[in-house]
Amino acid sequence: MAKYVYDFSEGNRDMKDLLGGKGANLAEMTNMGLPVPHGFTISTAACLTYLAEGGHPQGLMDELETHVQTLETSMGKRLGDPSDPLLVSVRSGAKFSMPGMMDTVLNLGLNEEALKGLAERSGGDLRFANDAYRRFIQMFGKIVMDVPGDAFEEALDHAKEAKGGGASDTDLDADDLRGVIGRFLEIYEEHTGSPFPTDPREQMRLAVEAVFKSWNGKRAIDYRRQNKISDDLGTAVNVQSMVFGNRGEDSGTGVAFTRDPSTGEKVPYGDYLANAQGEDVVAGIRNTLPLADLERIDPASYAGLRQVMDTLEGHYADMCDIEFTIEQGRLWILQTRVGKRTAFGEWVMAYDMLQEGLIDADTALVRVDANRLEELFKRRVDAEGATAIATGLNASPGAATGKVVFTADEAQAQGQGGERVILVRRETTPDDYHGMIASQGILTSAGGTNSHAAVVARGEGIPAVCGADAIKLNPAAKTFAAGGTTVREGDVITIDGFTGNVYVGELPLRESLLEKARQGDAPAREETLWKAFAALMDHADVRRALRVRANADTPDQSTNARERGAEGIGLCRTEHMFLGEERVLSVRQMIFAETAAEEQAAYDVLLPLQRDDFVGIFTAMSGLPVTVRLLDPPLHEFLPDQVELAVEVALGKERGEDMSEQERVLQKVNELHEMNPMLGLRGVRLGIVKPGLYAMQVRAIVEAAVRVKKDGGDPRVEIMIPLVATAPELQQMRAELEPVAREILEREGVELDHLEWGTMIELPRAAVTAREIARGADFFSFGTNDLTQTAFGFSRDDIGKFVGLYEERKLVPANPFVTVDRPGVGRLMQIAVDEGRAANPDLHLGICGEHGGDPASVVFCAELGLDYVSCSPFRVETARLAAGQAAVGAAETASRKQG
Ligand code: ADP
Ligand code: MG
Ligand code: MG
Repeated sequence: MAKYVYDFSEGNRDMKDLLGGKGANLAEMTNMGLPVPHGFTISTAACLTYLAEGGHPQGLMDELETHVQTLETSMGKRLGDPSDPLLVSVRSGAKFSMPGMMDTVLNLGLNEEALKGLAERSGGDLRFANDAYRRFIQMFGKIVMDVPGDAFEEALDHAKEAKGGGASDTDLDADDLRGVIGRFLEIYEEHTGSPFPTDPREQMRLAVEAVFKSWNGKRAIDYRRQNKISDDLGTAVNVQSMVFGNRGEDSGTGVAFTRDPSTGEKVPYGDYLANAQGEDVVAGIRNTLPLADLERIDPASYAGLRQVMDTLEGHYADMCDIEFTIEQGRLWILQTRVGKRTAFGEWVMAYDMLQEGLIDADTALVRVDANRLEELFKRRVDAEGATAIATGLNASPGAATGKVVFTADEAQAQGQGGERVILVRRETTPDDYHGMIASQGILTSAGGTNSHAAVVARGEGIPAVCGADAIKLNPAAKTFAAGGTTVREGDVITIDGFTGNVYVGELPLRESLLEKARQGDAPAREETLWKAFAALMDHADVRRALRVRANADTPDQSTNARERGAEGIGLCRTEHMFLGEERVLSVRQMIFAETAAEEQAAYDVLLPLQRDDFVGIFTAMSGLPVTVRLLDPPLHEFLPDQVELAVEVALGKERGEDMSEQERVLQKVNELHEMNPMLGLRGVRLGIVKPGLYAMQVRAIVEAAVRVKKDGGDPRVEIMIPLVATAPELQQMRAELEPVAREILEREGVELDHLEWGTMIELPRAAVTAREIARGADFFSFGTNDLTQTAFGFSRDDIGKFVGLYEERKLVPANPFVTVDRPGVGRLMQIAVDEGRAANPDLHLGICGEHGGDPASVVFCAELGLDYVSCSPFRVETARLAAGQAAVGAAETASRKQG
């Protein structure tokens, strides 16, 4: 028969699946010989069976009875015994600590008879016994039977008022409490329709059942969704004999951390409350004392606690948090777990523990969360006392303050003039790029975490709040309204990309210690955080096999990426090189060209400009590979907006102005208009349709490489053709473009050590025909943004409307634009890797989609055996860290949940 109940002495810390986190650790501590009140755990399997069958699993009640009897024997007390009753707590405890689960019921086992025994056994302390009883009725009623908590609170307040103004719980004497108990029992019966259960075994049965049911309570379900915890785990129930912290001034209860969870420092940390029970510490009824004060109040217990803290930290080799109770000078340990800590604290602790020899370097490496590294490089806002006028999505981390501007041009003009500005828009488009990068921060009223604004902001390391729909923009008046405030152009606001909050005025910002240190600040480099960062990143670099490159389009970005440890550029997008006034005109000339000569004239203007761009980038990345992607976006992105232009033409004509030039442009815009531009004339298709375009780009790239080489540099060039679906597309492009390169090299008499031709794998067809494509490619780079779009048939720009619901209903594993969808997109990647390598053993492989900087996706890329990941420069450290963690086999740390 199945075993459902485990005595604390039968379990250990590795049994969290079965016993829950709390139960497993109680068992561990019991077996370590720590002073843990006796008890047992009903397993998660019992809960799951109960929920599946709608009743207690067969045999559970008998097993429970056996364990109750064992507990009675070991405690020398019996449930409900009128002379010396055993009292217990009933505590829920899932594998992961979960706020939604049922609260603990303390003092279970009391009834009128047992009450007398409790009073007698506590030296005639009737007040204490009555207080325990009224708490029990209250907790049991509220938690197990859903009696509204207010009903009890009101009755209690009533009793306090009767004692005179300002009376607190502790002012109520035994008689007062007797009155409260009478009232509580009535309230219970009024709300449940039945008298309070007097049989301790029935009390226990009802409480256990309530814990089981709470697994499927709304709060618990919501929490699991939010935190991506499986619904199939179930919760355990811990039944533990009571100890009392409310037995007078020599008693109390508290929580202790073996290290400071916020700074990571190796100092004991915590709170203590004298003469209190259980939840009083967190309930904030009375002010708690810092843990250190316990040393003065009760030196012996404090010394005992410190010893337990050291023992636990040594045993778990990690920072622990501990719940303890002191009953009349005797210390009891009620809970421990590996404690939660801040993003800051985890680095300091991991490093200190490594120095202390408590853990080895691999362990230290996986103790830090790659998902939280980036935030340590960002400024924070000190928002104390400030009220947000709006809250949007925390789209890109960091805080920024500056003057409000409403257009990208204004942002650029003021930003270049040294002004700090925040660009506020409904949403952004590629046309706004120049203004976005000149801004301190970006605020949009529409759009989600994958909107253009959010993606660009994260890529550029600019703080952003997106989709703050409380903001009502009035572009004509150059104002926006939110929360009853009107903000005008030029007014200063502060945005917090960590919380999504928007504030009026300039709030103080705190610099990032790590960023200061990274830039060479000497005092900052003395801080433990920096030392920890340097040491653990070194170790990650030693361990990882996966290289890390950056997505960078300019020399500045390249330099930034290199400083952060990038080992090349995995994606240099050339579309930004087509923006800017002078260039856009030539680009348009190219688009409008009616003769080959006109088109060539446009290329002649663009060629030297592009060449200079590449010279800058190859110089910055000398000695490291640079993958340049030939032009990818649809051409309409370089033309005015169709609707705006049509309006302009109509209005101009009405005024009788000469609109012939605008009309010509409009005609072309209409001609180029596509129903689905993302699936239209873009990528390699552009190269096929406009042969001069890619040839010009290749010429610029190769001439730039030649120049850099002649100047003593070491350019390592990889030319990448985007959006290939068929092997012949790539073959034909190479056949056209390679001679262009060869001709230049021959003319200049230069050899390039590294000149490769490859393609992006970003269409499902390319992935499944990788065998043929690989025969004509030196490398593949997975463009996982498009691959995700085309695999799901989701438009990244439009999923905002439903992705939230999709995640909530678990219709997608996680947002697939953030973390590679392993079963679908990941499978396509696997096929391409296997078939590509089989056809071409020299093929090298990387990823350049946004996913390249997502720790869980980095782990997946390591498993696939890619050669490198490429990500935004600001994620390079994150990717290095995640790659190091993947190498030490800690794949799960990327989505670590602490129990
Ligand atoms: P949570 O998961 O919310 O911390 P717990 O089960 O740990 O819930 O219990 C809530 C409070 O009750 C804690 O302060 C805990 O220390 C206390 N408590 C639980 N069981 C006992 C017990 N047997 N004796 C005394 N206090 C207890
Ligand atoms: Mg607890
Ligand atoms: Mg693409």
